[in-house]
Amino acid sequence: MVKIGVLALQGAVREHIKSVEECGVEAIAIKRIEELKEVDGLILPGGESTAMRRLIDKYDFMGALKEFAQEGKPMFGTCAGLILLAKNIIGHDPHIGVMDITVERNSFGRQVDSFEADLDIKDVAGSFPAVFIRAPHIVEAGPEVEILSKHNDRIVAAREGQFLGCSFHPELTDNHRLTAYFVEMVKEAKAKQLV
Ligand code: GLN
Repeated sequence: MVKIGVLALQGAVREHIKSVEECGVEAIAIKRIEELKEVDGLILPGGESTAMRRLIDKYDFMGALKEFAQEGKPMFGTCAGLILLAKNIIGHDPHIGVMDITVERNSFGRQVDSFEADLDIKDVAGSFPAVFIRAPHIVEAGPEVEILSKHNDRIVAAREGQFLGCSFHPELTDNHRLTAYFVEMVKEAKAKQLV
């Protein structure tokens, strides 16, 4: 059985935990570095990436997060979490910097701070209700990155091997299919480790 962690320094933690549980898998909030050892996959929630980075530094999490990635364990960044995963951020130094994408922050304009859109997400759902809140988008993706969804020609969901990222908040509706997709990634990664 796999267990999934949700980085609990800031952001929509409880909703992510509930979403994972709806997929029939145990989820725990990660507040201390040691707790990362207990989980097979990690969700980096939305919130505010610079605030989250400050907390990552304050609690000395960066080394452990990079190690988690190096071990090949799946990581799912949503909104601010996507920004944390990106190797390049326009106008900003990268944070964890493991996914071969360039992101632009707050890139859907001020007049549409928040909106909902129905997305076609490859291998996930033909119509997925996505909630965007001051969302980033993926401006450029490396050759190994699989683009899973676009909204108005902008990449809003992508996967690169063990890394999954989306611009929106998949935990805020009752549709748990993107979370379920990540849960499958975690199960597959764990099965491979056991062989
Ligand atoms: N705009 C935020 C940032 O730059 C992300 C918003 C979100 O996670 N809902 O970190």
